Amino acid sequence: MNKFDYLIVGAGLFGCVFASEMTSRGKKCLVIEKRSHIGGNIYTENIENINVHKYGAHIFHTSNKKIWDYINRFADFNNFINSPLANYKGEIYNLPFNMNTFNKMWGAVTPDEAKEKIREQSSQIGEYPKNLEEMAISLVGRDIYEKLIEGYTEKQWGRSCKELPAFIIKRLPVRFQYDNNYFNDTYQGIPIGGYTQICEKMLEGTKIYLSVDYLDQKEHFDSLAKTVVYTGAIDRYFYYCYGPLQYRSIRFENKILNTDNFQGNAVINYTHRDIPYTRSIEHKHFEFGKQEKTVISYEYSDEWNIDKEPYYPINDTYNNEVYTKYSYLAAKEINVIFGGRLGSYKYYDMDKVIESALNVIARL
Ligand code: UDP
Repeated sequence: MNKFDYLIVGAGLFGCVFASEMTSRGKKCLVIEKRSHIGGNIYTENIENINVHKYGAHIFHTSNKKIWDYINRFADFNNFINSPLANYKGEIYNLPFNMNTFNKMWGAVTPDEAKEKIREQSSQIGEYPKNLEEMAISLVGRDIYEKLIEGYTEKQWGRSCKELPAFIIKRLPVRFQYDNNYFNDTYQGIPIGGYTQICEKMLEGTKIYLSVDYLDQKEHFDSLAKTVVYTGAIDRYFYYCYGPLQYRSIRFENKILNTDNFQGNAVINYTHRDIPYTRSIEHKHFEFGKQEKTVISYEYSDEWNIDKEPYYPINDTYNNEVYTKYSYLAAKEINVIFGGRLGSYKYYDMDKVIESALNVIARL
């Protein structure tokens, strides 16, 4: 009766991995996507011969060899190592927080000197930091918190660091070596030629409809397949019956400039609250580009509303409770699988999205 085994709603990374795996197992998949292109937020577009990360910088990193081998089937990766810089009122600091940062901030030369400074500056914080502010101060001390974390985080999340969960800052390594690698993972790189090709390869042999909103014609699409894989926002699927979950959105301002090297680094974070954007990305540096021009994206963080794109789930206590209610409804939906960042309301890195899609496949 059904023409397809799986209707996959959303052509982002989760949907693409799912389609690829199921198609290779002989299942018939239909992918529908609201946007006019595949790839979700990892989509890259060629502008001036530069692969521009249209929905924000994506650097692939993982410590899971299985996932690294898996993604390498779809593209060759270069040896890019993310080493962003923080610009605080024109002072440049290395990120993540490491001996180079401590040296510039305090003149600390040895790990013991840096640890002593952090101990001094965090003595007021109890054993169990309650929020992002306390966690940050206990990890790197008050000076770094005030110059490199507080302004950036409040711009990024539109909330005080006292209201934000501590886990957000734990994403960043704190290191007592002179090492500017932003990630601790074993494997890291950028796909040579951009991310879109990965999704194209994953969707080979799968039927795709672009610019289609599933929820506008739900009954029709449901009738086409035995099982639905829904990777859109979970609260929208249930027509916001428990109220909308909160997200942060991003507005990008892109500029093409007639210079071959504008900022000397792929990622620069602006950590003072008076600069309205959080970071500027110079895309060519992800692939060590030698083009004559350059493309820069400024990221402006924005509170989400239903007319805007949801980017970051805000996994604080309130939203996690609301999400739990939605997840109970999701568990009761027959023949619907929820996945991906929006379907699971999780602040996922790409490797974790792939891992979760492969786990769902293994269970099926
Ligand atoms: N962060 C910060 N200063 C920085 C970079 C990051 O305070 O210069 C904090 C901020 O709260 C941010 C979090 O660390 O939301 C996680 O940063 P990450 O770079 O992992 O964010 P993403 O790349 O996912 O936007």
